[in-house]
Amino acid sequence: MSIETVFIGFGSNQGDRHDYCDRALTLMNLLPHSQLTRISSYYETEPIDPHGTMGTTWFYNGVVQIETNIAPHSLLEILQETERGLGRHDDGRNGPRTMDFDILLYGQHTMAEPGLTIPHPRLHLRRFVLAPLAELAPAWVHPILKKSITELLNNVDDLAQVQKLKLIPGSRYGHYPTCARSLS
Ligand code: AMP
Repeated sequence: MSIETVFIGFGSNQGDRHDYCDRALTLMNLLPHSQLTRISSYYETEPIDPHGTMGTTWFYNGVVQIETNIAPHSLLEILQETERGLGRHDDGRNGPRTMDFDILLYGQHTMAEPGLTIPHPRLHLRRFVLAPLAELAPAWVHPILKKSITELLNNVDDLAQVQKLKLIPGSRYGHYPTCARSLS
């Protein structure tokens, strides 16, 4: 496997969301055969749930960039194991979760296999993904839609609120290169 630039989305809406996100960054910095190179700001985001979001806690979301030669399915397995390590119990889709990871982009690769679709099938539909991703990779071209992340963000229909937070991502632990932080 060659080294690829991969973008991973993360989000938490249960417990101490800030702490779960900081811990997730620490763990992503420990991924084998990988280097964590950039981290977006944290965003507080309105949950999207067709059954209504009354009483649902807003998420903290962000995106990291890594350079890795872990193959896509192995990376997903490691991320799912990390979710469980961070206390996630599966309560079904859109349920509250201590941590959720999504492989958003894996270089320019595309795949649609049972259990793994790349690019992530809802990447282009979600403001809470596109806003932090645009901080790290505004000109990155979606390999299927052939549009840049900025274009996708500027045209997304999703009206759910997304607010950039003035927090330093990972600052509670900080076991990763500070140069990876992006606070624009
Ligand atoms: P979620 O409820 O968003 O955590 O969805 C998790 C499910 O989505 C898992 O069963 C994964 O196998 C599947 N999945 C498909 N494509 C992806 C992807 N690109 N990144 C993460 N999970 C994915």
